[in-house]
Amino acid sequence: MRVQENVSLKRLNSFGIDASARYFVEVADQEEVAAFVSEPHFADQPLLILGGGSNLLLRHNFEGVVLKVGFSGIELLLEDNDHYYLEVGAGENWHGLVMHCVANGYAGIENLSLIPGNVGAAPMQNIGAYGVELQDVFEKLEATEIRSGEYREFSIDECQFRYRDSVFKNELQGKYVITSVTLRLSKSAQLNTSYGAIEEELEAMNIGEVDINSISQAVINIRNSKLPDPDVLGNAGSFFKNPIISEEEFLQLRSEYSDVVSYPADTGVKIAAGWLIDQCGWKGKRIGNAGVHENHALVLANYGNATGDEIYKLSEEILNSVRTKFKITLEREVNVV
Ligand SMILES: Cc1cc2nc3c(=O)[nH]c(=O)nc-3n(C[C@H](O)[C@H](O)[C@H](O)COP(=O)(O)OP(=O)(O)OC[C@H]3O[C@@H](n4cnc5c(N)ncnc54)[C@H](O)[C@@H]3O)c2cc1C
Repeated sequence: MRVQENVSLKRLNSFGIDASARYFVEVADQEEVAAFVSEPHFADQPLLILGGGSNLLLRHNFEGVVLKVGFSGIELLLEDNDHYYLEVGAGENWHGLVMHCVANGYAGIENLSLIPGNVGAAPMQNIGAYGVELQDVFEKLEATEIRSGEYREFSIDECQFRYRDSVFKNELQGKYVITSVTLRLSKSAQLNTSYGAIEEELEAMNIGEVDINSISQAVINIRNSKLPDPDVLGNAGSFFKNPIISEEEFLQLRSEYSDVVSYPADTGVKIAAGWLIDQCGWKGKRIGNAGVHENHALVLANYGNATGDEIYKLSEEILNSVRTKFKITLEREVNVV
């Protein structure tokens, strides 16, 4: 196990925040995880588990140990009449996995094309896009408890997946290193083209027969045309979650704002956080080097050498103004460290 000290994290977080890690350790297999957890020096240090860094806001230098998870490998464990079961190392790039599945005819995650980051972080917030969430294809994951070094598996129920949420973002936050994820992918595709602009894009692509390959390409085209590329403009995608309010609150809101953007949710009505932020006049606004994207009020961006704290303070201001105007408290989707 190689331990590095005072390592820059600038290239390891999609906001491009210039923060550093006091200690930096990379683990690429179970033995290295075991060596790490049995190292007494790290037992009392603050810990940050790092994947691709695309859902993180580093407010300050990290005065502890950053554990970069690099487990690789995509293995077809078994197949039955309907499904392929794929075990994937936590350090594999998510989009690379989607491309592997599309090329091999494993259906189910094509709508999740081009989401940045690594496979090990996907269960953290039950990643989702274009009508599909990780939980729709999730079979199980393997993880090691940091303090005891104990290995265990988590079933879908134990992960407690919800909208952009799981047990790993709550009571088990920072307690387990996820080392692999097993997905259950379909042999016959249930194509999901109803969400967002997929149908429109497929038409524009002039595709004869729609399949997982064309859906993946449509999602890639839409995302490339809509979302800022973190390599060009530092950002972490949607900064806030879409809040869910009760039916009653929704009717009240709609009576005042007939154009409110909303979606049905299991437990009420989901309101587009971007719409709320836009209504408060934030779209395109900057405070110093931190700003709200001019086309996407939900995307906060690093317009220069913004510090993590500048971006955090901007997010506080947005939270306050949405709370004041709508009495709705936004929740950050991005993990603030
Ligand atoms: C342009 C852009 C678009 C995006 N679009 C979407 C989208 O459509 N849908 C969506 O859901 N998300 C989206 N995201 C957010 C992000 O891509 C996902 O949340 C992704 O899963 C983060 O992966 P990561 O490896 O970069 O995680 P990191 O940012 O490295 O980590 C995120 C969290 O997971 C923890 N973590 C990471 N790896 C492990 C592990 N192996 N074990 C335990 N904990 C771990 C970290 O400690 C941290 O709390 C977008 C981000 C960007 C920049």
